[in-house]
Amino acid sequence: MKPPQASNGIGCADWCDEEPEGSGKPAVDLERIRAAVREILIAVGEDPDREGLLETPDRVARMYVELFSGLHVDPSVHLGKTFTVKHDEMVVQKDIDFSSVCEHHLLPFMGKAHIAYLPSGKVVGLSKLARVVEVVSHRPHVQERMSEEIADLVMDELEARGVGVILEATHTCMTIRGVRKPGTVCITSAMRGGFKTNPATRAELMALITSAKTSG
Ligand code: ZN
Repeated sequence: MKPPQASNGIGCADWCDEEPEGSGKPAVDLERIRAAVREILIAVGEDPDREGLLETPDRVARMYVELFSGLHVDPSVHLGKTFTVKHDEMVVQKDIDFSSVCEHHLLPFMGKAHIAYLPSGKVVGLSKLARVVEVVSHRPHVQERMSEEIADLVMDELEARGVGVILEATHTCMTIRGVRKPGTVCITSAMRGGFKTNPATRAELMALITSAKTSG
């Protein structure tokens, strides 16, 4: 898919030309989003031409560029630079804030990610796991698959001996609509390698995350 040329009446300015590094993918079709949002406004009984809504389709289009920016980035680029260490004990990074968009309702869900791995000689810089969460969360998602994707990425790229990913999040599709249960937290986990096979390793991870909560 190529961005349309100016000759067909849709200028290049109607495409988001921000191509994140390593993408090689087409930019986002802003005009198509604008038209769709306008249609939604009409469909729900609104007047898209009233003053307050005039710029809404454009704002929503640009918002989607940001919320779904992870579709055009390969998260593994953030795990490419590793350091060789002798350390083979668990590395845990907890309380990584994230927000994503549920693919069933296109409503946000947000919470915290906890990631642990058992290195096999390779570790990454501290900010890199947060970068991975950032990319993966900026896609339409379900929380379960998000946990799995992060776990598989860390496992594969770091050739880790084990990975444990725990996500806890509140879903606005459960709090503002449907069952309307504010305060409900959904917890998902994905365990690989040593975290899957060794209950003691898994228990150690759980204890680290839980102790962080009670003390903080
Ligand atoms: Zn949902």
